[in-house]
Amino acid sequence: MEEITALAKRRGFIFQSSEIYGGLGGFWDYGPLGAVMKRNVKNAWWRDTVELRDDVVAFDSSIIMHPATWEASGHVAAFHDVMVDCRVCKHRFRYDHLKDRARCPDCGSANAFTEPRNFSLMLRTSVGPMEDTSALAYLRPETAQGIFVNFKNVYQSSRKRPPFGIAQIGKAFRNEITPGNLTYRVREFEQAELEYFVPDDGKDMEVFREWVERRKAWYASYGVHQDRLRFYELKPEERPHYARAGVDVEYLFPWGWGELESIAHRGTYDLEAHMRLSGKDLRFFDETSKKHETPLLIESSAGIDRTMLTFLVDAYERETSVDPNGKATERTVLRLHPCIAPVQVAVFSLARNKPELVERARSIERDLRSHFRTQYDEGNIGQLYRRQDEIGTPFCVTVDYETLDDASVTVRERDAMRQERIGFEKLHEYLEERT
Ligand code: ATP
Repeated sequence: MEEITALAKRRGFIFQSSEIYGGLGGFWDYGPLGAVMKRNVKNAWWRDTVELRDDVVAFDSSIIMHPATWEASGHVAAFHDVMVDCRVCKHRFRYDHLKDRARCPDCGSANAFTEPRNFSLMLRTSVGPMEDTSALAYLRPETAQGIFVNFKNVYQSSRKRPPFGIAQIGKAFRNEITPGNLTYRVREFEQAELEYFVPDDGKDMEVFREWVERRKAWYASYGVHQDRLRFYELKPEERPHYARAGVDVEYLFPWGWGELESIAHRGTYDLEAHMRLSGKDLRFFDETSKKHETPLLIESSAGIDRTMLTFLVDAYERETSVDPNGKATERTVLRLHPCIAPVQVAVFSLARNKPELVERARSIERDLRSHFRTQYDEGNIGQLYRRQDEIGTPFCVTVDYETLDDASVTVRERDAMRQERIGFEKLHEYLEERT
């Protein structure tokens, strides 16, 4: 993780938030490459969950909602972690994360913990000119509730009836006790949530399984190592009382297994809770039973930051190769999927001071730019390759002296480091097939 954190900073993926002031725990900024990569991760999720389906609609709700939302959802009463403080070193821990509940993992003191107590994970703010309790509001700890309270607005305006889904990607905030592991556990993050509503007609478990399979296929299609990914089936005692099934998607990070996503069958719990507190009817009219019914809910809730971190960790490799002369060289490479990589094609001029080469390379880069995420660079070819390997660029195109004679370029592929000579007229097709 230290190596990946250092690379993320050095190459402009992830910076500590407000670093010049010493940073703020649990907050991170995405640099020029990180911002693009994060957008690619979101697009990949959105494409598969919304655009490629005719039964899922898009949504985008506000971060601050009426505080009653969080009473109905149970967050005000129960969204907390249990924490303890070490009386000696004053460090604070999540009680359920402590391996040894008698000894402080930081200073080693025995029996120095305070009594466990609840700590609300909701970040508060106030809305309007008065800062009294009537103005108290929360930054949403999940995006899902914005979908639930709008269920009727959405199905009426989009003329949908269950089975159908509502999806949204957006920021969520949790005042985590112990943020850490780069962007794995943070206090401000993005969630990608799908809420899929189904009629209570006996097919709900089938739909649940279909979404689990679809999510499995999604991770696989972006090349995540299958032996580092597991879909853990929650036992009844591990699920909330209202949930009928649950699968946690977990990845084997350098520090152990960690959750990326949870897929849950939540029954009618969420809509019923909002109907009770608001007094509004959120049922739909079921044409089969000719009755107003509360749909069942299948939820897939993934973290964008955790998914991006997974792609980074999973792609990271330090590799030693031996050239034909027996010389060993080491390189760091991010084997990112071409759809996720921030740069897809880098175009180089072999020399800085040869205007014909620079012009030709720049013009090739300009032509490719409207089809691929490209970058132009020039100089020492070995250094250029190393830099692009480190940021996960799958293809490098080099314009050299021969190019001026034979109208072809050298295309070098990141993973096998294979180089091929490709004519201008074939270049676009070659890259399109491979990205
Ligand atoms: P954890 O047990 O790790 O705290 P959780 O079970 O509370 O997570 P959910 O409420 O199921 O998480 O949220 C759905 C997804 O949102 C998680 O799988 C994760 O990807 C993301 N997520 C939740 N909390 C955080 C956080 N503090 N930082 C980054 N991502 C988060």
